Amino acid sequence: MRIMKLTMCHLYPELLNLYGDTGNVLALFKRCQWRNIQLDVIEHHMGDKVDFKDVDMFFVGAGAASEQSIAVHDMKNIKANLKDAVEQGKVLLAICGGYQLLGQYYQGKGGTADGLGLFDFYTEPADSHFVGNIVVKTEDYYLVGFENHIGKTYLNGLKPLGQVISGFGNNGEDKTEGVRYKNAIGTYLHGPLLPKNPKLCDEIIAIALKNKYNIANLEELDDSLEIKAREHILKSMGQK
Ligand code: GLN
Repeated sequence: MRIMKLTMCHLYPELLNLYGDTGNVLALFKRCQWRNIQLDVIEHHMGDKVDFKDVDMFFVGAGAASEQSIAVHDMKNIKANLKDAVEQGKVLLAICGGYQLLGQYYQGKGGTADGLGLFDFYTEPADSHFVGNIVVKTEDYYLVGFENHIGKTYLNGLKPLGQVISGFGNNGEDKTEGVRYKNAIGTYLHGPLLPKNPKLCDEIIAIALKNKYNIANLEELDDSLEIKAREHILKSMGQK
């Protein structure tokens, strides 16, 4: 039997890792393993040599302003390679502070700070924290999660990941949540996102498999526990 192998690059895990974001990497790993897909997770740390040749997906977690300001320096060294990867249709998943860093600017420690500028969106400071559980509708399914941010992100014409059903999302004003460009996703949803939303987790795996092996179908898994947990969350938020 041919073993399919994918590689994920976890960017700055020591800096950007709020609210259990690493659980997203574990969820990807387990859902690959349950299907006999080998997922190798490599880490990119500050100052590491940039070699993304074999990377199928990138993950960047969240961080507060102080961690963001450290990470963004090194991110400038990976910008061109990351941009190439995104344009090639590779997967990029960025959460909250990591998501903000991919835009033009964000609210840094002592004021506005330059982001990586990989995408045209920008983040302004809000007057108070956007915190609580959130439900978002994408084109195909509902996402559930938890958000906690002070930044308000404006997409500047980019496509959102979904529409806010309950919660704040990008800015608490326009009902958009996150961003989606090709197979790059930015989102404010922690939770962590992927264990709570197996459909999104599988979508990411399926994209990476299609890119690498041109395989379209993923073996079904028993998601009854996840479905039950999601129903509970949706019900508690008055959505079911
Ligand atoms: N510092 C950012 C904000 O509060 C990001 C926080 C986070 O990643 N949770 O907007």
